[in-house]
Amino acid sequence: MAPSELAPPLVVTDALVIRQDAARAVGRSDLRVDRGRFSHVGPNAPREGATVIDGRGFAVVPGFVNTHAHVAMAPMRAIADDRDLAGFLEILFAVDAHRVEADVEAGARAGIAEMLLSGTTSFLDLYYLEDAVARACEALGIRGFLGWAVLDPELTTQTGRPLDNAERFIERWNGRPLVTPLVAPQGVYVCGEEVWRGAKAIADRHGTLCHFHVSETRREVSDHIAKTGRRPVEWLAEIGFLGPRMVAAHAVWLTGREIELLARAGVGVAHCASSNAKLASGGVAPIVELRAAGATVGLGTDSVASNNSLSMLREMHLAGLVQKNHRWDAGALRAQELLDLATIEGARMLGRGDDLGSIEVGKQADFSLIRLDHPTLLPARPEAVVSHLAYSASEESIDSVYVAGVPVVQHRTLVRGDWGRIRADAEAAADRLWAFRPSPS
Ligand SMILES: [Zn+2]
Repeated sequence: MAPSELAPPLVVTDALVIRQDAARAVGRSDLRVDRGRFSHVGPNAPREGATVIDGRGFAVVPGFVNTHAHVAMAPMRAIADDRDLAGFLEILFAVDAHRVEADVEAGARAGIAEMLLSGTTSFLDLYYLEDAVARACEALGIRGFLGWAVLDPELTTQTGRPLDNAERFIERWNGRPLVTPLVAPQGVYVCGEEVWRGAKAIADRHGTLCHFHVSETRREVSDHIAKTGRRPVEWLAEIGFLGPRMVAAHAVWLTGREIELLARAGVGVAHCASSNAKLASGGVAPIVELRAAGATVGLGTDSVASNNSLSMLREMHLAGLVQKNHRWDAGALRAQELLDLATIEGARMLGRGDDLGSIEVGKQADFSLIRLDHPTLLPARPEAVVSHLAYSASEESIDSVYVAGVPVVQHRTLVRGDWGRIRADAEAAADRLWAFRPSPS
């Protein structure tokens, strides 16, 4: 399904538009969408043949780009709370081993519903059985950048060789408008050199992104030093893995040299402030230093098992506060920068900076209408609205969401899926999966 071919022309009049263009313009404007893309941004949009929405009570913001998720884990929210990463993974791996394609799809639909209802229109995912996630993306109308997890064959519950599975997945889904398949090494703790090299070869062969976890905890770093004599990012640089189209999640425990290595190689970093804080990864990811070194940084929610939300509004808020407090610098990661990470910078990391992440003529019409009369957006002044998005706006203020000009949420209701049914299926998946939860030790 190509949504841009289905979308009728659409005009939004006199809304408070947060463009996220080069000038970071915020102001009253009309918008027109033709064939899924913005065709007019400014006063007096032509209305011929279009559905017209009165935008006076709304802010319009680009759809959020969530750069690290495991969306199908929705039924596992709260299954391993209040444990560190090692204790968390003990439970997660035990439950994950019993997942089947049907409950992955049910979980993905519930997670995607949560994302759409909080204004996210694109996400980068890392999981297996991604065909089920891809189907859920196409059904509900979100853009999925879907990474098939690869790891050492002797450590996986996947049938067959994970690298082969990833490549077949890419071949099956390449060229779709909403689904972008890619390969995703899980991390140095389960991937040997052959897997990293194999993943890079697949990404190069097919021109895809490559997404991976790195340096999330001190334990991961010290174990890798014990094994190889090198820190994870240094080691990945040495084996020739780093390069553009690579997106690293977490990157909490980095040296100055590793920051340079990532930035120079053009590796993007998905910052997961909530997940890191909840799992007590300790320290604070060097986001300010990474950006100063020229790295592209986005925000990621990680899964609801470690966050426990998929809301990018919450992610902006926490990412900003953690950096400011840790650095004794209230000017660190300002509201505008937080919105940049959640929109245009995230789009750049996905290699789609020319096509997504801002409201500009020619770009895909992925955007949300946000109610300016919601209490968390008061005062609804143009000079305050970016701060509201970064620090105070509630998900409940997000009235309607469009992907490629197609409505996917209208007045807080999913358009292309029935929440009652999605919820029932995901609850049934949870009933099955929670039975495999080991008793807490
Ligand atoms: Zn993750």
